[in-house]
Amino acid sequence: MAIDLTKVNIPFNRSSLVGRELEYIFKAMSGGQIAGDQTFTKKCHELLEKTLGVPKALLTTSCTHALEMSALLLDIQAGDEVIVPSFTFVSTVNAFVLRGAKPVFVDVRPDTLNLDEAKLERLITQRTRAIVPVHYAGVACEMDAIISIANAHKIKIVEDNAHGLFGQYKDRNLGTMGCMATQSFHETKNFTCGEGGALLINDAQYIERAEIIREKGTNRSRFFRGQVDKYSWVDVGSSYLMSDVLAAFIFAQLEVWKDVQARRKRIWDYYHENLAGWCNRHSIRRPVIPEHCRQAYHMYYMLLPSLEIRQKLISHLKEKGILSVFHYLPLHLSDMGLKYGGKAGNCPVTEDISDRLLRLPFFNDLSQDVQANVVEAITSFTF
Ligand SMILES: *Cc1c(COP(=O)(O)O)cnc(C)c1O
Repeated sequence: MAIDLTKVNIPFNRSSLVGRELEYIFKAMSGGQIAGDQTFTKKCHELLEKTLGVPKALLTTSCTHALEMSALLLDIQAGDEVIVPSFTFVSTVNAFVLRGAKPVFVDVRPDTLNLDEAKLERLITQRTRAIVPVHYAGVACEMDAIISIANAHKIKIVEDNAHGLFGQYKDRNLGTMGCMATQSFHETKNFTCGEGGALLINDAQYIERAEIIREKGTNRSRFFRGQVDKYSWVDVGSSYLMSDVLAAFIFAQLEVWKDVQARRKRIWDYYHENLAGWCNRHSIRRPVIPEHCRQAYHMYYMLLPSLEIRQKLISHLKEKGILSVFHYLPLHLSDMGLKYGGKAGNCPVTEDISDRLLRLPFFNDLSQDVQANVVEAITSFTF
């Protein structure tokens, strides 16, 4: 039976326990050692390394910090250029701008809303040091083309894989194709401990320095492995380690990753099937998942015909107690983006879709009954 919509309040996102979180947090506390790199952190590293097939995974305090580490590891300097999509979260860019780099914004493809590889090459200059593809909504960028362009110009790739953990591109795991990749365990992501992240390192030459940068510029990790007899200041660095309490939390989620992803697939498929008829009748575009991509089921969005209709639908849903939200505003047109030369018209696809995109409630314990009400509310909207 349909729930009375005037009485429900459906958030856009809500975190929930998916496994043994409380037990593990208790265990971490009982062990008496809850700083970084303790038992649960090591378990997370091993799980990510084994499951994804990456040489090294390091838990961090956030994806933002993992991105900052990648900029330090690549030795990004003032005057360097880094190519980033304009349609992304601010941290993708800020991490490099903090080192003095100039962001060069690339538009996205109209289908997947991922960095448009066809527009990449013309943006490359002598100063280009890195390309940062973001696998939007957990659907892979066209990595073959991006990798071949990057290799031809000797430019590094850092995958911002905040949305894409456990997604695949042509049978390759997302996060394993750049020299490094970053993950987020923020509460809005598929797997969460509130705030957290990880740096995945695929090119082994960066591993040792990554450990040092993450440990305040000291060789403390080598000391703990018995490789040096005292530890000291050897490089620049900061404190990017996650507390083992949070590692216990995120380990409980990661160890049941298949269940979580199966749940999210059901939620995604339900929207996709049940909105198909209405969307088709009103020329509303649903997400496009290319045949060769196995998506990570991070979000469900629709592209409405115009900004005005999207805003009306947001209000319509809000009246029914349902929170739907838009997403990234084009970074090249933000206050900071304008300072780096951003102009209206530079990224026409980004400018267009940013106005029309709407994300629907999507979280691990979203039940089908509640989802049915979201669908009913959407399909009762007229314009
Ligand atoms: C969430 C997100 C981030 C930042 O993640 P934090 O863990 O909150 O720092 C970076 N990039 C993208 C694409 C994101 O969605």
